[in-house]
Amino acid sequence: MSLPRFVLRGRAGCGKLGEGAGQEDERIVRRPMPERKVIVVGAGAAGLMAAGRAAEMGAHTLLLEKMSGPGRKLAITGAGRCNLTNVSPLAEFIQHFGPNGRFLRQAFSQFFASDLVEFLSAHGLATVTERGGRVFPASGIAKDVLETLARWVGESGVTLRTSSPVRRLIVEGQRVLGVGLQHGRVFRADAVILATGGASYPATGSTGDGYELARSVGHSIVPIRPALVPVETAGRTARTLQGLSLKNVTVSVRANGKKRAQAFGEMLFTHFGVSGPIVLSLSKTVVDALRSGEKVSVSIDLKPALDDRQLEARLLRDLAAHGRQKFGTLLRGLLPRKLIPLCAESVQVPPDKLAHQVTAAERKRLRVWLKDFQLDVTGYRPFEEAIITAGGVDTREVYPRTMASRLVDGLYLAGEVLDVDGDTGGYNLQAAFSTGWVAGQSAAAPS
Ligand SMILES: Cc1cc2nc3c(=O)[nH]c(=O)nc-3n(C[C@H](O)[C@H](O)[C@H](O)COP(=O)(O)OP(=O)(O)OC[C@H]3O[C@@H](n4cnc5c(N)ncnc54)[C@H](O)[C@@H]3O)c2cc1C
Repeated sequence: MSLPRFVLRGRAGCGKLGEGAGQEDERIVRRPMPERKVIVVGAGAAGLMAAGRAAEMGAHTLLLEKMSGPGRKLAITGAGRCNLTNVSPLAEFIQHFGPNGRFLRQAFSQFFASDLVEFLSAHGLATVTERGGRVFPASGIAKDVLETLARWVGESGVTLRTSSPVRRLIVEGQRVLGVGLQHGRVFRADAVILATGGASYPATGSTGDGYELARSVGHSIVPIRPALVPVETAGRTARTLQGLSLKNVTVSVRANGKKRAQAFGEMLFTHFGVSGPIVLSLSKTVVDALRSGEKVSVSIDLKPALDDRQLEARLLRDLAAHGRQKFGTLLRGLLPRKLIPLCAESVQVPPDKLAHQVTAAERKRLRVWLKDFQLDVTGYRPFEEAIITAGGVDTREVYPRTMASRLVDGLYLAGEVLDVDGDTGGYNLQAAFSTGWVAGQSAAAPS
């Protein structure tokens, strides 16, 4: 197949964010064929890191982004603050990805959290570590991370071409030759890095294109599903409690009556069900159980610091000390106000019953409810509301040391397009940065 030579639009180096956005053929430059040409598809966390690293290694690098500017998703991460990594040790870090975390070990051993923090600091961006080892830019502004990366990418000599959706990978005899854009234009390269992200928050540009591109050249795709996603519950309970946030509770997921997972921390009631950090962490278990047809419920332990015996002693003490108080008033010492009517109704004790009249059976019902407040799960929110995508390119088809495809020579994969997904806490961005860095390095200088 004859392909045009490497045609670049705009100046080499992107420098400012959004350069080239929507500009048609402002300057077409035909360059002599350099030694090694690398194309990176997708200018998110993984793609920016991959492109910068490839260029630093001396490759002639073209970064193709379908949106009018790079890093749309990066700019909204961490509620606009960007929790860019986590300082937990490698072994613990990997556990936050479940079984597929093992695949990331070699990438992390080449470029890990401390390397990222050092890298950002060397490029003028200070970071701070907060509760739970979460690392943020010291400015508290996610866009600062994006701008630091974009500046470095430009200074490294990468050409960023925005508004350039890649529609096909050009492969001949199991070797990648380049990519084709939406309007038929073709770019040729020695290596292509697919860093198109997942399918969540599609308005940011991550619409799942990478799965189709990888599939088209023979890769297997582990079925994709929303992850770190809010959960929908039955009835009106959640809607009644909408806006209530519970701290220091334990939430367990049960599927067909068996406990599958649990997490301690903070959760939130919404108009459709439950959300908040621990619910998002547990959502993968919920989604997978629902998808396999199981009956799923969540159980909230509102008093995880007390076992049954300690809770019984506490209730006996409270009821005895405030015998003339109404049951509803007594509950204020145990529960947030919004939960009290629901609790009284669930344990079938009228709120105006006097504490000393509460029977042993009623006390037991209260104790059980406080430890096991159950909500039936009916579904989960769509990709539009999922923080990440579970599933993706099967990691068994990718070399973990280089991120090179085992099926197509010259093809590399990085970031969320791969079948890796982690908890909240900075794990997912670090995975994108590490796999991007490794892919960029390997694509520029294959061993
Ligand atoms: C609201 C929100 C908050 C988050 N907060 C955090 C956080 O604080 N910490 C954390 O660790 N993780 C967080 N994440 C997850 C994290 O943002 C992702 O895991 C990470 O961005 C994945 O990086 P990526 O480069 O693989 O993909 P993306 O960042 O999604 O980038 C992919 C890029 O590829 C482009 N693209 C797609 N298809 C094509 C195509 N055909 N041609 C050209 N370009 C294409 C897209 O436009 C996009 O720019 C958050 C996610 C969301 C949605």
